[in-house]
Amino acid sequence: MSLFVRTIVRKRNGAELSDGEVADFVRGVTDHTIPDEQAAAFLMAVCCRGMTTGETAALTFAMMRSGETWDLSAHGFVADKHSTGGVGDKVTLVLAPLLAAVGVKSGMMSGRGLGHTGGTLDKLESIPGFSTNLPRSEFDRLLDTVGCALIGQTDSVAPADRRLYALRDVTGTVESIPLITASILSKKLATGADAVVFDVKTGEGAFMAKTDDARTLGQALVETTRAAGRKASGWITAMDRPLGEAVGNASEVEESIRMLRGEGPADLRENVLLLGADLVVEAGLEKSEKGARARLNAALADGRALETFARMIHAQGGDASVCDDPSRLPRPVGRRDVVAAEGGVVARIATREVGLLAIEIGCGRRAKGDGLDLASGFRIRKKPGDSVATGEPLVTVELGPKANPNEIYFSRLASCFEVAPAGTPVSPLPLAVGRI
Ligand code: URA
Repeated sequence: MSLFVRTIVRKRNGAELSDGEVADFVRGVTDHTIPDEQAAAFLMAVCCRGMTTGETAALTFAMMRSGETWDLSAHGFVADKHSTGGVGDKVTLVLAPLLAAVGVKSGMMSGRGLGHTGGTLDKLESIPGFSTNLPRSEFDRLLDTVGCALIGQTDSVAPADRRLYALRDVTGTVESIPLITASILSKKLATGADAVVFDVKTGEGAFMAKTDDARTLGQALVETTRAAGRKASGWITAMDRPLGEAVGNASEVEESIRMLRGEGPADLRENVLLLGADLVVEAGLEKSEKGARARLNAALADGRALETFARMIHAQGGDASVCDDPSRLPRPVGRRDVVAAEGGVVARIATREVGLLAIEIGCGRRAKGDGLDLASGFRIRKKPGDSVATGEPLVTVELGPKANPNEIYFSRLASCFEVAPAGTPVSPLPLAVGRI
């Protein structure tokens, strides 16, 4: 029996692996001395048997060390944020420049759309000229000059995760809390932030639909980040309906610009403030959440946050005039309201399905390499708990030049909004479902 088969069998039988056994696995994955079939068998054993906190930390740190690790200490305190993703989640676009505007440097490495959820990089790329593909030296320069940078993942960070993620995707081993924790954190910790705030979404538009699962994942993320010597905190937030009103790419940038100007939907503001206040306190700029919120609200109100966003866009090669004139973003060529067949109260939004329908009009990819229709998206007009009259819009569909949905598409979208008779009690999740 080869040495690694012994490790697979031990995990299959429920043993707790040593740090050395876990590190040998990651080394073999990185240098390809462990073949796909053995790596996949190991992943399935982990999926079925789980991992202890110690094993999860060992896996995370070994994966983190499989590639470059960045030392950002020359920049002073640097903050980061991670969301487990959802529909209409544009918090990063607002939070990074807002933090920089109040004196907290933020360097964030973001991703593309995954499953039914949107991706920050795709949204940013709707800004003409904006580049998320910056070398490390530019990332450093932006942290020093603007105070924030939003970039894409580079091949040199956590290469073990790239191989493992691709294997998990095709072996039914994505939904494992230790594997998700190690995947997320191997990349986060490698990029060197001093403090990370986690936004773990729950509700039917989240990957962790059940609040208990969201809490377990959140605790694993926070504990493992602390074990790496970084500050960490987290919130479980609602994703039983889209966040804000815009779902799409250019439209989410436009909504973020409104928020940075101090306007924009209340739920988006609350989500930004929840996460931002933790980082302002961790940076040592304020002692209390109340003080931190006041500091953040002031920068939204007096234009500093939007001005910082404009400077970041310019520094990343984009057309910063979109901040004054959002009509310079890709524009829809058509609009159509989906209306309530009968009046009443919105009881539920099938949020995951809304995310999947957004992909069908070009907001995300059906297959790797698909192009996007950046102008397409939805404006959510009614949320759970809102009253609606017969014929009133529930959602407006905005169609980019390539989108051409048929009638069945609009009825599928209408059926995502469950309208109950007026007076029916409806209890959507509070935005802040819990503290991790
Ligand atoms: N995001 C990641 O980077 N990895 C996962 O496993 C899940 C979400």
